[in-house]
Amino acid sequence: MEFQTQRLRNARHVVVFSGAGLSAESGIATFRDALTGLWEHFDPAALATAQAFRNDPALVWSWYEWRRAKVFAAQPNAAHRAIATLARCIPRLTVVTQNVDDLLERAGCSDVLHLHGSLGSPRCFACARSYSFGADQPVEAQEGRRIEPPRCRHCNGKVRPGVVWFGESLPDDVWRKAVSAAKDCDVLLSVGTSALVQPAAEIPRMALQQGAQVVHINLQPEAVAGDREFSLTGRAAEVLPRLLEQAFG
Ligand code: NAD
Ligand code: ZN
Repeated sequence: MEFQTQRLRNARHVVVFSGAGLSAESGIATFRDALTGLWEHFDPAALATAQAFRNDPALVWSWYEWRRAKVFAAQPNAAHRAIATLARCIPRLTVVTQNVDDLLERAGCSDVLHLHGSLGSPRCFACARSYSFGADQPVEAQEGRRIEPPRCRHCNGKVRPGVVWFGESLPDDVWRKAVSAAKDCDVLLSVGTSALVQPAAEIPRMALQQGAQVVHINLQPEAVAGDREFSLTGRAAEVLPRLLEQAFG
C-alpha cells in the first residue's frame, strides 16, 4: 500500500527519526561505508568505545577530530532543509537523530534530540565537565596527524568526544523526550538509518505500536508489516523534498 501524503498534511505531531544516511549526501560517511585514507585499517566499532579511548586516547581523539573536520567542511543537504521546512508546515515536529553532526541545526532545525551525543560537545573523561566546540573552535585534525586530547581545565583529566560509545547508555533526558514523542506522534518518518543500533531502533517501533504511521526512507526497500508501515526507496535528499511537495506543495 502507498503512503497517503494527506496523513502528513493532517498530522498533529510528526517525529523525524534519522540516521547516518541523512548526512550521506553531505559527504559524511555512514558507519557501513568503507573508511578512507589513514582510517581505512580501523573498524569504527573498535574506535567507538571507552576501552579504545583508555588504550590509546590520541588515536580515538584524532579519529573524532578528523570526523569533526569533515562535518565542519560539509553543508546541510536538501533532506536536512526539508526537515526544517516541515517544522513550519505542521503543528508539532520532534526531530530525533542518531547523528553526531550538526547539519540539522545548520539547516535551521531547533531542539534536535541527539540520542548519540554530538561531536561539538566533548566532556572530561574523569569529571564529566562539559565543553563546547562551536564553529569558532578550530579543527586541528589533518589526515595522518595524531592529536592528544585536550586537558580538562578543572581536573586536568583527558577530554573525550561527547558521543555515546558502544556499551554506554543514552543521555537520560534525551531518551525520555524521544520516547514520549514516539508514543505521542501520528506520523514517524525514519530517514537513512539501518535501525540496527539499540536502543535507538526502538523509537520507530514504539511509534508503530501506539498507532502511528511509520514511513521508512532508505536506499534499500524496508520490510514492512501491517498497513501502517511504509517504505519509500531512494536518496533522502530526493524523497523528502518530494514528499513535502506532495503533502504541502
Ligand atoms: P548506518 O550507517 O547503520 O545506516 C545508514 C543507512 O542509511 C543505511 O541503511 C543506508 O542504506 C542508508 N543510506 C545511505 N545513504 C542514504 C541516502 N542518501 N538516503 C537515504 N538513505 C541512505 O547508520 P545509523 O543507522 O545511523 O547507525 C550507525 C551509527 O553510526 C549511529 O549510531 C550514528 O550515531 C553513527 N554515525 C553517525 C554519523 C553522522 O553523525 N553523520 C555518521 C556515521 C555514523
Ligand atoms: Zn575534569
